[in-house]
Amino acid sequence: MSNPLFRSIPSVNDLLETQPLRDLVDRANRTVVVRGVRTFLDKLRDEVKQTTQNWQVPSPADLAQTIADWIREEERPTLRPVINATGILLHTGLGRAPLAEEAIRDMSAIAGGYTSLEVDLETGERSQRVQAVERLLRHVTGAEAAAVVNNNAGATVLALAALAGGREVIVSRGHLIEIGGNFRLPEVMSASGATLREVGTTNKTRIADFATAIDESTGALLKVHPSNYVISGFTEQPTLAELVALGKERGLPVIDDIGSGALLDFQRFGLAGEPIAQESVAAGADVVLFSGDKLLGGPQCGILVGRRESIDKISKHPLMRALRVDKLTLAALAATLRLYEDESRALRSIPLLALLSAPVDNLRNRAERLAPQLAALPAVAAAEPVSDETFLGGGALPTQVIPTWCVALNPARRNATEFAAALRVGSPSVFVRIKEQRVMLDLRAVFPGQDQALVEAVAALTPAERAQGESAEVGG
Ligand SMILES: *Cc1c(COP(=O)(O)O)cnc(C)c1O
Repeated sequence: MSNPLFRSIPSVNDLLETQPLRDLVDRANRTVVVRGVRTFLDKLRDEVKQTTQNWQVPSPADLAQTIADWIREEERPTLRPVINATGILLHTGLGRAPLAEEAIRDMSAIAGGYTSLEVDLETGERSQRVQAVERLLRHVTGAEAAAVVNNNAGATVLALAALAGGREVIVSRGHLIEIGGNFRLPEVMSASGATLREVGTTNKTRIADFATAIDESTGALLKVHPSNYVISGFTEQPTLAELVALGKERGLPVIDDIGSGALLDFQRFGLAGEPIAQESVAAGADVVLFSGDKLLGGPQCGILVGRRESIDKISKHPLMRALRVDKLTLAALAATLRLYEDESRALRSIPLLALLSAPVDNLRNRAERLAPQLAALPAVAAAEPVSDETFLGGGALPTQVIPTWCVALNPARRNATEFAAALRVGSPSVFVRIKEQRVMLDLRAVFPGQDQALVEAVAALTPAERAQGESAEVGG
């Protein structure tokens, strides 16, 4: 039974003759546009079927424009650059660490062609794909050997499987953490084929607890940095040095998952207590694990450094093949690590470190300059510079605040949540934080070169309607 209303819907061919869709065919490609029109009309017919009231067919011109806008939206890449005005420097939802220019340059230099990935340029023979990066990791961390995999969760599974598969791994109950995104240590351990042997209590574990748990089934001792939470008060955990001494005495490898991968002391930014990779290596851990895209400020990857014997076992494990990284990651990681060979260069060139180093007075100046520009925009009722505090994010140093400056906005005719949503879908897309009903544009993670784009993003918002009720008000 055909609905009579269907006949008033223009045909695909008629729609393709309209200006908006002809323009789109010129700019995009015909197949995409035709598919888009068909899909849209199917949806429209479904809607018509479900409507009981009188349904008004839009004019062909209006319908064509709506379809063209819809197709354009559908065809936009889902991975888009965004401005991070949340203040959270390692925002997992926004891709954690931005890459240094040097890393981007080296990635693009090799992306479009063939590379010397598995060929030793001198001998012409195959060589380890991580050879160059491994050398850099050894230099930077002081370790005997290194390996790189897809992320730190992968590094953990691999290290446990290679060093303690089928055996027990002893870990403190205070270290059985969950990192965001379903990384729960007990589950990761069971995926590796190692058996979890918990010792101590949530707040107190002593080296003696580890010592008494060791038996013939023990494969390794594990220490995990509880990156995203702190236990304070009546607490105790064995030091890495104690675990290393115990491991040596009993012939067991010690795995130290330090998480964030700081390669320099973050105390300089006022952030205390983050383990440094070099120190774990120096303290004698057999394997030290960390992420590449947290405090290191490089690409997503998991890094394993430590003793040659342990790293060799890890590199030869079949899971290594499943978790290995691609040439782009290796290029970006190598370029980032090279920056660490000169600390002042690292601080300047690695975006995370540069953003953290920005003096609070610079942020204040920028906030003071931006506030009047933003206050003058139609979507904004009021804007003022305010000092505030933010966090590192990415599951690192959850309790330590970083001083910052924001522009605090009172939207015109929207509430803060509606304003934030409008900015998110705008172009460029901007992510903000909300505090006490105000929209906070936090400058800590906004690159100075993005200030103008931030103003433009807010300028592009109409002083629009509240979400429901009133009709749209265009322009302004
Ligand atoms: C973040 C983190 C992980 C997971 O690292 P990914 O690179 O996100 O896989 C594992 N262990 C610790 C201690 C961490 O902080």
